[in-house]
Amino acid sequence: MTDYRYPNERLILVVTVLLVLGVIAFTSVATLCGSLLFVAAMLLLALFLNWLHHSALIRQATPVTPQTMPQLDALVRETAAWLSVGNTVTYVAPAPVLNAYTFGLGGPKAIVLYAGLFSIMDRDELQFILGHEMGHVQLGHTWLNSLLGGMAGIPSPFGAAVILYFAFRWWNRACEFSADRAGLLACGNVNKAVSALVKLATGGAARSAVSQQYALAQLEKQDGDNQLGELLSTHPLIATRIQHLCRYAASDEYRRLQARVNQNRSDRV
Ligand SMILES: [Zn+2]
Repeated sequence: MTDYRYPNERLILVVTVLLVLGVIAFTSVATLCGSLLFVAAMLLLALFLNWLHHSALIRQATPVTPQTMPQLDALVRETAAWLSVGNTVTYVAPAPVLNAYTFGLGGPKAIVLYAGLFSIMDRDELQFILGHEMGHVQLGHTWLNSLLGGMAGIPSPFGAAVILYFAFRWWNRACEFSADRAGLLACGNVNKAVSALVKLATGGAARSAVSQQYALAQLEKQDGDNQLGELLSTHPLIATRIQHLCRYAASDEYRRLQARVNQNRSDRV
């Protein structure tokens, strides 16, 4: 009882399905090519920005060498040797800011320390910061961040863009925990690592042990009210970083690695 079917109905259905499949295949290939082109453009942009940043830095900052800053140069070399980090170049930027960062796609990667750090950090705290930055270099965060950071901007539907945004921030925060561990291994003293982080968070206001204890309690209280802000940030809250670091400092894994770093230390003496 289906003989009344219009003769071309089945043929039209087949053609329609083939057309739909064709459109899906075409748009998939176009999306893939577009994404690959976007990634290539991002890579070129990252290389250009890196060159631009480096040129600007060389004009303003002082490279750390045995001639320009002998004591800091010795500390940089010592820290690199203890952590077995490859070739890096360290600069001191003149701004009175409490910050440090790394950049670079090829080698040697650059570590930038702002001058503000030197007025409030003691030698061990500075070594924690240097170790932290060298950790970023050694674990590949420095070049990965330059590339992947750009890829987080790949044009995507709104929902996917939000997922990418949060995913990259999640990864950024994980990188900070890893780099803090490198800083701890470099300075070898969890109290100094904690005091460096508290000083960074308080702008150097908390210097004595008592004021640091008070500042830490305040930070824990403030950070407890700011969990949502942490999700949007590339850096974990300072109180969270300190908790993670103290937990790591009490682990067997840390003791084993610290023993290896100390071996590197005594080999150099
Ligand atoms: Zn960091």
